[in-house]
This record gives sequence, structure tokens and C-alpha cells, in this order.
Amino acid sequence: MLFAALALLAGGNQEAQAAEEPVLNLYSARHYQTDEALYANFTKATGIRINRIEAGDDQLLERLKSEAAMSPADVLLIVDAARLWTAQQQGLFAPTKSPALEARIPASLRDPGGHWYGFSSRARVIVYNKATVNPADVPTYESLADPKNRGRVCTRSGGHPYNLSLVAAQIEHGGEAKTETWARGVVANMARSPRGGDTDQIKAVAAGECGVALTNTYYYVRLMRSAKADEREWVSKVGLVWPDQGAFGTHLNIAGAGVLKHAPHPENARRFLEYLASDEAQAYFANGNNEWPAVKGAAAKNAELESLGSFKADPLSIAVLGRNTPAAQRLLDRAGWK
Ligand code: FE
Repeated sequence: MLFAALALLAGGNQEAQAAEEPVLNLYSARHYQTDEALYANFTKATGIRINRIEAGDDQLLERLKSEAAMSPADVLLIVDAARLWTAQQQGLFAPTKSPALEARIPASLRDPGGHWYGFSSRARVIVYNKATVNPADVPTYESLADPKNRGRVCTRSGGHPYNLSLVAAQIEHGGEAKTETWARGVVANMARSPRGGDTDQIKAVAAGECGVALTNTYYYVRLMRSAKADEREWVSKVGLVWPDQGAFGTHLNIAGAGVLKHAPHPENARRFLEYLASDEAQAYFANGNNEWPAVKGAAAKNAELESLGSFKADPLSIAVLGRNTPAAQRLLDRAGWK
């Protein structure tokens, strides 16, 4: 009894950890080469072995829903505010209190209740065809709806989380009515009906099929770093605009993770999240997908990403985006952004 009390005083956390097997079951929507080193280093530092299930974001959400209380998963790692919000709404996450995470991860990049934390960030930018479009025609998201850009805009589907989160931010800043008018303007300006992913939009802009498109920054940087000459060629034909530098700033999103409600190893899970916020893990994590570390001062060590320069990012809380997601989806449906 006395021994237990002393052990608790000496390190309450270690006492709790001793009760858990040294295992962490991770459901991850990420699968990059740098992740191997990331996970190996965690195991080396803690002795906790990582079992990984890798699948698409939406597949993982489905799987967790059907496994319910029987799920072996401890941590869910997915991308985009809209999906993190969905997971939270489905009651998948347990709130995790961690002074270390609160100190390291900026408040705007995590859930105030500790259900999830952002570990890297990406921006949604405008790309344009250098030969046919003057970047001064597309300085803002709003300008994508300007009649002077008629027939120029390419985009992926309106229902995709990347666009839902962007529109959720627009709603927060300008209200629903104004955002719906904007969405109708974008639809009117489309060069083709929405299809493909962000890389397909960059390719279509490079080919001149469209003048401008929306993309997440990491797709652009991935093409810059591509081993394939034709992919680097696309980037050379395309310029990048940081939208809304004179207003709210460019829309940011995250890759994030949370401890699951039915986690068999919640203590190991919390330690894993804290590890992801370390300088070393941040460099691997962000670099794996050409993103920026969430932790201020952590270095990405990515020359191509750094070559994009700095920009003013929208400081809006990622948690706010989730709340506006259902309204964003209804608005895009009404506007005909398929
Ligand atoms: Fe993506």
C-alpha cells in the first residue's frame, strides 16, 4: 500500500502505464515512407509496439462505426476538419487532456475539448495557368466567382471535405447568403463539371483545359518533387496564389488524430499523441506529405515546400469549420456545385 502510494507520487503516469500492455493500435489514413521512421522511433523511445491499419479516411470511419465498442483501435489519424468533426459527432473520440499537447499545438489547430489535435497543416490555394491568366484576376476565393473568370474554373466535387471545409470558413466570415451567392458564381464560371482530385485540377490547368483551380498545397509540392519529368513540367506551367492576403488570410486545414472512446490502451494512445508533437516527430510527420508542422518552430526540412514562401493564414479555429460543415453541404447542393 505504502509502496503503491510512493510509486504514484514518484510518477503517477508510469504507474498507470504499467497496467497496459506495450501495444498501440493505430488506424491511419496516412501511408508515407517517412512514417516508418516515425513509428520506429516511438517504439524505440517507449517500448510500445505499433499495430497499424491503413485505409482511406472514410473507410476507417465506417470500420470504427461498425466495430463500435469491440474496436481494438486506440488512435484514429485522419485528414481534414470536416472528417474530424464527423468522427467527433459519431462519438468516436474520448477527450484527452494533456498539458504537453496544449502547450505544443496552437489552440486554433485542436479541439478545445481535447477530442482531436492537429499535427500538420496544409493550405487551400488557387493555381493558375501562367500563359493565359493574370494572377491579379484571382487574388481571393471570392474572385473565383467574378464574371471575368467565366469558363476558367476547375474544381473537384463540392461534397469533398476539402471544399466543404473551405466553404465552412467562408460561411463563418461572410454568412450563408453571401457564401451561397459566391458558390453560384463559381458554378457559373466552371470550365467543366467537377471531377477528379486536386492533382487532376493542377494537371488540367497546366494543359490549358482550365485557367484556374483550387488545390491543397501538398499536391502542388508533391508534383514539384516528382521523379517524373512530365509532372514537374505541369508545375512549371502553373502559378500559385495565396488567396485573401488582404482579408482573412488563406484557408488552412489539418491532418489530426484523437484517442478513441473504446481504446484498449488509452495511456499509450496519449503518449503517442504527445510523441507526434515532439520536434523530431513533427519533422517526419509534416514532411511525409509535404505539409507544415503544427508545432511552431518545428522544421519541415523540405526545400520545395519552403520555396513557396510565407503567407498570411486564416487564424479561424479548425473546430469552427466542422460546425459549419452541414450548412456548407446544403449550400453547395443548392448552388449546384456537384
Ligand atoms: Fe489529400
